[in-house]
Amino acid sequence: MNRFSISIPTATRATCDLLIIGGGVIGAATAFYATRAGLHTIVVEKRATLGELTTSASLAAFRAQFSERVNVALMQESITMFENFRELTGADIGLHQPGYLFVTTAPDGYAQTRARAELQRACGLDDVELLTGKETRARFPYIAAEITGATFRQRDGWLSAHELTYGYARASAAQFFVSTQVTDLLRAGDAVIGARTTRGEIHAARTLLCAGPFSGALAQLAGIALPLENVRRQQLTLGKHALIPRAAPMVVDADTGAHWRPEGQGAVFGWARPEPPSAPLDDVPTDWDFPAHVLAGVARVTPFWNVVIETLKRADLGLVAGQYTEAPDLNPLIGATPLEGLWLNTAYGGHGVMMSPAGARLCVDLLTGKLAAAANPFRATRFADGSYQPGEKMVL
Ligand SMILES: Cc1cc2nc3c(=O)[nH]c(=O)nc-3n(C[C@H](O)[C@H](O)[C@H](O)COP(=O)(O)OP(=O)(O)OC[C@H]3O[C@@H](n4cnc5c(N)ncnc54)[C@H](O)[C@@H]3O)c2cc1C
Repeated sequence: MNRFSISIPTATRATCDLLIIGGGVIGAATAFYATRAGLHTIVVEKRATLGELTTSASLAAFRAQFSERVNVALMQESITMFENFRELTGADIGLHQPGYLFVTTAPDGYAQTRARAELQRACGLDDVELLTGKETRARFPYIAAEITGATFRQRDGWLSAHELTYGYARASAAQFFVSTQVTDLLRAGDAVIGARTTRGEIHAARTLLCAGPFSGALAQLAGIALPLENVRRQQLTLGKHALIPRAAPMVVDADTGAHWRPEGQGAVFGWARPEPPSAPLDDVPTDWDFPAHVLAGVARVTPFWNVVIETLKRADLGLVAGQYTEAPDLNPLIGATPLEGLWLNTAYGGHGVMMSPAGARLCVDLLTGKLAAAANPFRATRFADGSYQPGEKMVL
């Protein structure tokens, strides 16, 4: 049987310990950890290939520079996993670690960045460098004269989301059924016992929603309302240009969230500008106003973009869109639902690629009982029981 098969083994029915719905980076990562833990796992993906919905729209960047202890811990574990990915899976994920640079033009910018670096240190992140405006420009000469402070962490960076997704999938022992859409969840009394798909039924001890923007609609099939919103986010790509510093880190305007990083001889750009929530979409429309906004946004802190803008042609630019799936505290939903048999590993917002290793490992520890539900900070019940802490977080 080809593991990237399009038929269900017994023609009408398959059984497994764990049925994962969704073959994006989160579904593939969870399959990797689940099969290492000995769970017989099936992944169903409605598209013909893995990682083609939100995952393919990602800038594929990662950072440990968060300001909440739980996220710093997730990212430290995840970055260590990326650094060892080749040994663990045999796959080359195109790891780059030129760092993440957060810059500000605020009059008290140095004091602000020092406060953030101290908060991060208190969260266990002790390798963030604090820079004055002058120190920032000495190290990164293309940074604007108006910058008053910055933080930099060298081990942050980016990778290939496609290679990561397929790296997890190939190194797992799971069966992947592509071109297979879940149309309903199977119930026995109050319990979920698998799913009905366009290629037959799959029975499972546990059914796990990793369906990105569609996780909320799938949970609704079982009568569960998840506190999730989908919001469009776009990525601009720019081809080769001589002015782009190829060794630059990810540069983030900490005052606005506009960001860019080099990609080959070109660059990629993102900015979580205000957008209304929308229904889950298979094809997310792009908006050709976005390139002008994001280029002006990053030119504020890296003014050489103003020169690049003057020479740009439409053919130099590419635009893709996807949706961030977000819970109210912008942290993922991981773990059991109130319905027996139905589990979640979803709602990673703008962090699903970077958090995929630790999020999936944590989910599998919960599935196998290695981690107690009460010790899980990402439990879906945190909103209903009032235990969640809306922390300070920049949407990137
Ligand atoms: C513009 C943009 C930039 C981003 N940049 C970054 C970044 O730099 N770093 C980072 O870490 N994250 C980034 N993200 C976020 C990241 O892309 C997501 O968090 C991540 O891809 C989510 O992965 P997922 O597997 O949960 O969802 P998805 O990739 O959406 O996968 C879900 C899968 O489920 C499948 N599915 C849905 N319904 C069904 C069904 N009924 N039956 C079968 N299959 C189904 C879908 O086809 C899809 O393949 C960015 C996102 C966007 C949009």
